[in-house]
Amino acid sequence: MLRVTVLGSGSRGNAILIDGTDGAVLVDAGFGPRSLVRRLNAAGRRPEEIGAVLLTHEHTDHASGAAAASARWGWPVYGSAGTLDALGSGRSADARPSDTRAFVDDGVTTVGGFLVETTKVPHDARDCRALVVTDTRSGARVGIAMDVGRVPDALPVAFERLDLIVIESNHDEQMLARGPYPWSLKQRISGGLGHLSNGAAAAFVSGCVHRGLRGVLLTHLSETNNQPTLAVERTREALRRAGWSRDALSAASQQVPLPPMASTGEAAWLVHASQLSLGLSP
Ligand SMILES: [Zn+2]
Ligand SMILES: [Zn+2]
Repeated sequence: MLRVTVLGSGSRGNAILIDGTDGAVLVDAGFGPRSLVRRLNAAGRRPEEIGAVLLTHEHTDHASGAAAASARWGWPVYGSAGTLDALGSGRSADARPSDTRAFVDDGVTTVGGFLVETTKVPHDARDCRALVVTDTRSGARVGIAMDVGRVPDALPVAFERLDLIVIESNHDEQMLARGPYPWSLKQRISGGLGHLSNGAAAAFVSGCVHRGLRGVLLTHLSETNNQPTLAVERTREALRRAGWSRDALSAASQQVPLPPMASTGEAAWLVHASQLSLGLSP
């Protein structure tokens, strides 16, 4: 069993709870301890039950709470070597956690009952990663791509045949272009090291459709340059055209946790079965 709850997402903080068969981990900790406790409790979890935090990158809205949470609850903090290096400097968190562990590059990192694989994604951070987290027992897999300037060639490959997808859908292109931000900030957001637009997220997710895909969660929506209905409709239309007829698509909010999405690992089973029917070894 794999269950994903976005505890909150946007430029003012991000955290995603992943419950597996054997334990739970958090992806990003961009809220202070008090807010994290409140959000975890709303999702039926206590901080003491979290086995680790996995950071996508060092920006404050993803990492500012990591050091305090690690000190208070003993969470080890995982990240790319670049992310861990950058913690405590510049725009990032104001303290470096005492227990940091680097992801295995081009390989699999075992974190409790989960396997974690990472893919480098372009973003104006030291070494930002998209993550694929597998519940070891059930084989259910979720892909999480938080801040992504543009989709690199390796990402569609890494996100093949997932059960669940969490993807940034930051801005509506028209709203950003006509909105109040200064030109330089508009350029940064829409540039190759910034954030994914609704259209880019929709195009990417529709390319990941397969019959085992159980749910899609859109994250990091701009409160100035986006609206949940716009983001959801854009991706829903793209998914429908790609032949995905499920209704399990929603957009995360900054303030409150989303209802969870879950998978039993059926997608992994389907891959296994199709490999067997083709006479391939699983
Ligand atoms: Zn960022
Ligand atoms: Zn961010």
